[in-house]
Amino acid sequence: MSLLNFMSSDLAIDLGTANTLIYVKGKGIVLNEPSIVAYDKNTKKIIALGNKAKEMLGREHKEIRVIRPMRDGVIADFEIAEGMIRAFIKEVSYGFKSSKRVVVAIPSGATEVEKRAVRDSAEHAGAKEVHLIAEPMSAAIGIGIDVEAAVGSMIIDIGGGTTEIAVISLAGIVTEESIRVAGDEMNNAIVDFFKKQHNILIGEKTAEGIKMIGGSAMPMNEELTIQVKGRDLGSGTPKEIEVSSVEIREALSPNIKKIVDAVKQTLEKTPPELSSDLLGCGIMLTGGGALLKGLDQKIMLETGLPVHVADDPLTAVVRGVGKVIDNINQYSRVLIRNRQY
Ligand code: ADP
Ligand code: MG
Repeated sequence: MSLLNFMSSDLAIDLGTANTLIYVKGKGIVLNEPSIVAYDKNTKKIIALGNKAKEMLGREHKEIRVIRPMRDGVIADFEIAEGMIRAFIKEVSYGFKSSKRVVVAIPSGATEVEKRAVRDSAEHAGAKEVHLIAEPMSAAIGIGIDVEAAVGSMIIDIGGGTTEIAVISLAGIVTEESIRVAGDEMNNAIVDFFKKQHNILIGEKTAEGIKMIGGSAMPMNEELTIQVKGRDLGSGTPKEIEVSSVEIREALSPNIKKIVDAVKQTLEKTPPELSSDLLGCGIMLTGGGALLKGLDQKIMLETGLPVHVADDPLTAVVRGVGKVIDNINQYSRVLIRNRQY
């Protein structure tokens, strides 16, 4: 083990509803895994984590449960969520001395109890100092926005469980909106569509694949034909059908509308000086949902503002927390202040 391992011990974490990413100071992103845990129902002991747990999803038996503890942007099961956070930190902390500083990005809608749980888990994993930062703030820093400037910027971070919309200026969040419509709801809409329109049942993972390949928010230059395998609900046997990307877009459109409406509401709440700033720099899209084809054009069409998809949107948040941990003094103003009791 090198001396370097002992020296670099500060961590930055993007605790996402779908994916957890960890950045180690001086090293870069060292972990990028699904926020999924498999545990023994009787003992609540964690059996598998991340990708290994994802493989078990839908294939578990009565002794094993596989869950996404952060699924809706809120902590569904505190004990399991804490276990997951601790286990992820442990995985990247091999060889580190115990005194470390940890910065965690959390959904802006997180409650005090949830913030406490995240702090406690990091402390139990050996952190001496824990700081929290709001996800959209972190995404903004990650994609290089000068968050301290007296200029408004709008970030839309579309993850698995939540879409977080925020207008940022002077190192603070001016207006925000967090809705529980994001990637997971799009997957559910695709599952429902096949059930209702084609009488076949498909799994969540299949639905996600269809969304990534054939999902869209605007008509495509060339519409696609997609082969889909599932179980016929009438006969109960496996069946393969063909669908057009036009149908998938229709299935997704109610969710897209909810996201667009939330963006419009946030714009309505934004003070005029800041909203006029947005005419210049526009809206930035981050998170995995930003990759849905045509979503940027759709939001542009509906708001009249320029919209850009960030480079590598899935790592925007962790790159932001990474910059914060690298320059903690410079960024102290963007951290969520400890509530005094
Ligand atoms: P979180 O921050 O909540 O963990 P992520 O930012 O990691 O979420 O994004 C995960 C979501 O992005 C998932 O719902 C996934 O299906 C979706 N996603 C990833 N790639 C694409 C794509 N190419 N098109 C549409 N959605 C995508
Ligand atoms: Mg995220």
